[in-house]
Amino acid sequence: MKYVLVTGGVVSGLGKGVTASSIGVILKACGLRVTSIKIDPYLNTDAGTMSPFEHGEVFVLDDGGEVDLDLGNYERFLDIKLTRDNNITTGKIYQSVIDKERRGDYLGKTVQVVPHITDAIQDWIERVAMIPVDGKEGPADVCVIELGGTIGDIESMPFIEALGQFSYRVGPGNFCLIHVSLVPVLNVVGEQKTKPTQHSVRGLRGLGLTPNILACRSTKVLEENVKAKLAQFCHIPAENIVTLHDVPNIWHIPLLLRDQKAHEAILKELNLLGVARKPALELWTARTKVCDMLHDPVRIAMVGKYTGLSDSYLSVLKALLHASVACHRKLIVEWVAAGDLEDATAIEAPDVYKAAWDLLKGADGVLVPGGFGDRGVQGKILAAKYARENKVPFLGICLGMQIAVIEFARSVLGMCDTNSTEFDPETSHPCVVFMPEGSKTHMGATMRLGSRRTYFKVPDCKSAKLYGNASFVDERHRHRYEVNPDMVSQLENAGLSFVGRDETGRRMEIVELPSHPYFIGVQFHPEFKSRPGKPSAVFLGLIGAACGHLEAVLKYGHASKLLTKGLSNGKPMVKIHQNGNLKPSNGSLNGVYSNGNGVHY
Ligand code: GLN
Repeated sequence: MKYVLVTGGVVSGLGKGVTASSIGVILKACGLRVTSIKIDPYLNTDAGTMSPFEHGEVFVLDDGGEVDLDLGNYERFLDIKLTRDNNITTGKIYQSVIDKERRGDYLGKTVQVVPHITDAIQDWIERVAMIPVDGKEGPADVCVIELGGTIGDIESMPFIEALGQFSYRVGPGNFCLIHVSLVPVLNVVGEQKTKPTQHSVRGLRGLGLTPNILACRSTKVLEENVKAKLAQFCHIPAENIVTLHDVPNIWHIPLLLRDQKAHEAILKELNLLGVARKPALELWTARTKVCDMLHDPVRIAMVGKYTGLSDSYLSVLKALLHASVACHRKLIVEWVAAGDLEDATAIEAPDVYKAAWDLLKGADGVLVPGGFGDRGVQGKILAAKYARENKVPFLGICLGMQIAVIEFARSVLGMCDTNSTEFDPETSHPCVVFMPEGSKTHMGATMRLGSRRTYFKVPDCKSAKLYGNASFVDERHRHRYEVNPDMVSQLENAGLSFVGRDETGRRMEIVELPSHPYFIGVQFHPEFKSRPGKPSAVFLGLIGAACGHLEAVLKYGHASKLLTKGLSNGKPMVKIHQNGNLKPSNGSLNGVYSNGNGVHY
């Protein structure tokens, strides 16, 4: 096993995650099998308890692991399936060491950061790197390890020490360190400044790690004299210094690395030059070009709670992008704060209310994503009602499906007080209820997490067709509440159709409104398995319906063959609508995406 370690210096939010994933992409394109590990030096054992508002979305894996959103980037870029252990946190490492100490495994020794924590980190990396993640047998050839945070952070020290020891443990020719740094341009003189990078490389060396390759974030390509200066002061050959300048979309990063022969520098360091082939990135390049040239817009209103931070819904945005590119449309996400659609806002802030409704009404499709807590629920219900009554394409994910069912029961069945017991435990008509898979009384671990199977009960429905007429589909879940099975027949008699269910038939997984052009709710999160070039079925359906091509999508499984229109020059774009103001944002669809702290390029 060969290891590529990616560290970051100078400031956070340099796009280290995307850089590390892109390194994986070019290595994979060279014919190597690649896995990855993300190290998050925080104390939380996993991301499950972290607010998406603060830290970006919680990404969910097949095994139910709730992990950092960077793992989503790895899965999407490398088309792999990771495990919860591929995300290492300080909390997990300490917990494993303390558990061992309690069992008496340390035989009376004093348990210390060095060597016990540092050994545990190295053992963890070695063990997890061996897990196959690409569906093939046997371990991968290369493991890309991304160390979160910035060199010099107190909390990453044990990891730096462990990784220094690890490079020694695996030996020369098996370890390559890529340091991602910033080369700022001072406005006054317009000069690319190397000093911050020099300092951060010095810091890295001081901690026992020697970088082999420097990846410099900068607005423009590095000038030759700047490269020469960095080479001289950082003791890194100029051919091992690459520029990651600003790009129209993040799919350019692997191409940027390839153009600067970063793969050759890495392969040389890992003694793999003889084994690897020239990077085959034709498909990747074609898709990136298509994405750059999209012109005809498709507007999707995203009615959510966290509208200020696009990272909170990162995978949903990516899934929308994958589907839009497949349909040759330029994605425009109109971000609508659910609360702004509510009656209370009409009284308190009529302008805000009007602007929110104008945005919703101007959209070609409506998406209500997952969520927890009752803030904005009424607004989401109103959005679903608008989409249902006006035959606007609608996709409800998890909570989005639950509110669509509540809305239907209220408006069509006339059950004014029906609700989810999550929001009103006393409701006389609970149409969404708590259905734990395990014990009802046991506290904690009651979330239904990870991959579960959905069986299509109605073979002729839109979602079954979108999933290629499969008889079942495995998707990822993260929820506690579900449609009340005792109310299903009543809802179905009124026109809703629960077309996908679990193996018991008691858990409703997919709901459709057959009388509507495209009205689908899913209890699972299809966004987590969407990939560039392999868009999620129900997202493709939403975008296809929103641009009037659902028939083609249903027939061919994709629309790109039929749609040559929509190509010209332009970038996808995200617009945030909050408190009545339109804030154009580069969101996470453009430029280099960062570490989930809300900082973007
Ligand atoms: N709050 C809802 C539940 O727990 C929905 C969760 C979600 O959307 N991820 O079932």
